[in-house]
Amino acid sequence: MHKVVLDEFRGYYSRLPAEQLDVKDFVRREYALLHFGDQKMIRHLKFDSVSELKRSLVEGVPANVYYSSAYYRNPQADDMNAKGWEGADLIFDIDADHIRTDCKDEHDTWACLDCGCRGRGFPPDACPKCGMKKIDTVTWVCEGCLETAKREIFKLIDDFIVPDFGVSLGEIEICFSGHRGYHLHVVSEGVRGLTGDGRREIADYVRGIGLDPKEHGFRQVTGTGPIVGPDMRDGGWRGKIARAIYEFVSGRSQEELRAVVGPVVADNISKGREKFLQNISDAPPHWGGMRGYSLESLMKIANAAAREHVCNIDERVTLDVKRLIRQPNSLHGKSALKTARVSYSDLERFDPLRDAVAFMGGSIKIYVKEIPRVRIGDCEVGPAKGTEMEVPRALGLYLLCKGAADPRV
Ligand SMILES: [Zn+2]
Ligand SMILES: [Zn+2]
Repeated sequence: MHKVVLDEFRGYYSRLPAEQLDVKDFVRREYALLHFGDQKMIRHLKFDSVSELKRSLVEGVPANVYYSSAYYRNPQADDMNAKGWEGADLIFDIDADHIRTDCKDEHDTWACLDCGCRGRGFPPDACPKCGMKKIDTVTWVCEGCLETAKREIFKLIDDFIVPDFGVSLGEIEICFSGHRGYHLHVVSEGVRGLTGDGRREIADYVRGIGLDPKEHGFRQVTGTGPIVGPDMRDGGWRGKIARAIYEFVSGRSQEELRAVVGPVVADNISKGREKFLQNISDAPPHWGGMRGYSLESLMKIANAAAREHVCNIDERVTLDVKRLIRQPNSLHGKSALKTARVSYSDLERFDPLRDAVAFMGGSIKIYVKEIPRVRIGDCEVGPAKGTEMEVPRALGLYLLCKGAADPRV
């Protein structure tokens, strides 16, 4: 990595108050460092105090700093069996890279390594021209991507973690990852002992895996007779499905309804939309004597509507009982932004591209290879290609870390 980046990272860690590196039960965590240019992490580190960790960061200037979601008796043991696992926080990872957003057409490109076919936006699973799966991607993240990831975090907290799992806001920590998304840590005795299987159940529940709306209280008395369904005030997926159907029918155009249930049923619903909605809300579980719709059509709507309420987490992170996750207030080696803690009450107005900026003031001269529009703080540049520019320090370091620019003196 360029010397200017290493110098700036070292400066950041020198200035950082050591207490900002504290995590719950600090001495029981395994630490891992990844240095610039290295593929392999240095693992099984244990620090006796946050000052000792800080010293190590100032001296070694790693690109990325991780700690274990797990608590160990011997965090430094290099044999996982000898570590003495004593539980782990429950972690959720939401990464904008995994979510299809329209803005990806503006800033992401992909190329097939076999035939050279190229395209913009979310990469295909296989090349549309030759069918091979070796796809190279160049991805960026913009305000739109990060806003989408934030909405997913709110959904996770407000629709699942708090109401369905009974976790209080005091037991969660939210972090901006420093690059493309957010992490949610549930730090509570209640989840510490969960096994991998237990965590998988939670991940599947949140992702709606194996969710069959029909199993959530729906029944039709006779062929096209009255429908019985869940109450919008029910807990868990029952209530979510009832609310999802209500929202879906009230908010969708006729075209969109047609795509789900076909023209006849869609036109029927459109004509009697008010009544349909009233039926759902009026006297559950008897959906207001709703008649004339087959349960099958209703389930098509339920499935489509419920899909919009699942939460887009990276399940591998949640079910891992000894995950290494980013250290709060450390720098991200691909962005020079910091892994910033955000309180729930500040999350709505949190702007990661401003509030996670670690370098204030100063400017850097760089040679830009190729970038889409990029904003850091108040400064916006690009799209640009093959040009020199002088930019604010934080933006320059961002582009250098992304590998999209070289320093100029
Ligand atoms: Zn191809
Ligand atoms: Zn975007």
